[in-house]
Amino acid sequence: MPELPEVEIVCQALKPVLEKSSFLKIQLNRPNLRYPFPSNLEQELVNHPITIVHRRAKYILINFSHGLTLIWHLGMSGRVIIEDLDAPSLKSGPHDHVIFMTSHNHKVTYRDPRRFGFLRLIATHQLNTLAPFSTLGPDSFGDSQLNASLFHERLQYHNIPIKRALLDQKIIAGIGNIYASEALWQAKLSPLRLTNSLTLAETGLLLKKIQDVLERAIAAGGSTLRDHVHPNGDIGYFQHFFKVYNHKDKICSRCHLFPIIKIIQGTRSTYYCNHCQK
Ligand SMILES: [Zn+2]
Repeated sequence: MPELPEVEIVCQALKPVLEKSSFLKIQLNRPNLRYPFPSNLEQELVNHPITIVHRRAKYILINFSHGLTLIWHLGMSGRVIIEDLDAPSLKSGPHDHVIFMTSHNHKVTYRDPRRFGFLRLIATHQLNTLAPFSTLGPDSFGDSQLNASLFHERLQYHNIPIKRALLDQKIIAGIGNIYASEALWQAKLSPLRLTNSLTLAETGLLLKKIQDVLERAIAAGGSTLRDHVHPNGDIGYFQHFFKVYNHKDKICSRCHLFPIIKIIQGTRSTYYCNHCQK
């Protein structure tokens, strides 16, 4: 599943292509993905200027000047392919479900073999009143309001293992399973520690490590577990930097003493070093 870094990378790639542009045509090659497409999608959006392309948690949000926002979720296997209309075009494949033609001469294709992605159209002013946006916690990356004391305060309300809290989008938004394990290893915190046992200093360090690990992943082009590929078709390589994720039984690269262990928390795999994470 694309995690926050991949979604951020897609968002950064779409920004210069879509902002100040508009859609000339929206071609839907099937009636639905995870949900039916908005029935009036093309009629509502074509020829209206796009003002801002941004991200909230793992959602790409495209705002239009006439007060509508297109919510785009990449699901489990979504890819975005950006092509110049003047360049020789690749042939559309069987999983190319949505094709946007822009006024700035781009073709933006949404390819999603597993079809868990979706598009939704809403009034921009309603965004924060609708689920899931109404209940999302502060964004783990790029939210200037989020600091150590706010994060600490939010964690103190709960008495659950910190790893589970990191995945709870209502506490902090945008952290997926991979980066939760990586950030906890970086911060030397056990995934089993209860949220309300964390000191302010530990919380501050954890927040810094979360942001570091996401920032490095974005800089490295995002990880490409399963079948995610970048907008330009390149494959990212951040997984080579993973210290614990999928490293079961490998010796911890920090203490060089103990193997990384894998446990299941909730339904999700957690990887950690029982020696250096306390
Ligand atoms: Zn270790």
